[in-house]
Amino acid sequence: MRKPGTDPLDVQMTDVLCDFCHREWSEAVPMIEGHHGSCLCARCLSTAYASVVHAGLDDGGGRAGCRMCLETREDPAWRSPLDPEALVCLRCLKLAARALEKDPDSGWRRPEASAS
Ligand SMILES: [Zn+2]
Ligand SMILES: [Zn+2]
Repeated sequence: MRKPGTDPLDVQMTDVLCDFCHREWSEAVPMIEGHHGSCLCARCLSTAYASVVHAGLDDGGGRAGCRMCLETREDPAWRSPLDPEALVCLRCLKLAARALEKDPDSGWRRPEASAS
């Protein structure tokens, strides 16, 4: 998402907010862009990935649209703790994880499954 009042012709990094934690985009935390300017930061991606992929949790798949792909899918999804409207589906999490891992600048690695 973008901060209210952002000049669409001159978008700065700090005008771009993660849709899920509302953090500003910075060099330290890479962001993945979805449709219509929605964004998912690497930290939320790690949390969501661990929750949906490793823990098998589902916060609303099939019942609400995914913020990133704008589709209502049967896939499990992760819900933002800050914004109950903000969901990201499993497919988008996998795509985002693959894209971030490929980006040598991101330094991001998907979370390991816990040994328990
Ligand atoms: Zn975030
Ligand atoms: Zn999606």
